[in-house]
Amino acid sequence: MSIITISRRLEWDAAHRIPGHEGACKAIHGHRYVAEIEVSGPQMDALGRIVDFGVIKTEVGGWIDRNFDHTAVFGRNDPEVAAIAELNEKMGRPVYWLDGAPTAEGLVAELARVIPELLAPHSIQLESIRLWETPNCWALWRRG
Ligand SMILES: [Zn+2]
Repeated sequence: MSIITISRRLEWDAAHRIPGHEGACKAIHGHRYVAEIEVSGPQMDALGRIVDFGVIKTEVGGWIDRNFDHTAVFGRNDPEVAAIAELNEKMGRPVYWLDGAPTAEGLVAELARVIPELLAPHSIQLESIRLWETPNCWALWRRG
């Protein structure tokens, strides 16, 4: 059985750090993150689409803009980032807190937790998320 899926690419800028990292990643630094959001649907609409690409941009891109873009994503248990969190709060870009470490794996897991409810009103299903931390490194979440 074959299946057709579609994917929308989304990009944003954010800082993070990996507490306890062996190298430079323990310092606060930034990335141009890229996520490829792949979805499927039960049927094509009257125009021959699973869903308009713009729906993914509006729903998922909107959430990313409000929560991840131009701020930092830190682990809740990171003891070193209170001052940055306070500063970003003051600047109107509150830090986004993860329960675990803000690795590529941690971010893709958080997106996989949040996105299904954003897509539910559009009757489409999240199939995979490929989260690029750098042009050479990604983490992949897939349904199942
Ligand atoms: Zn990094």
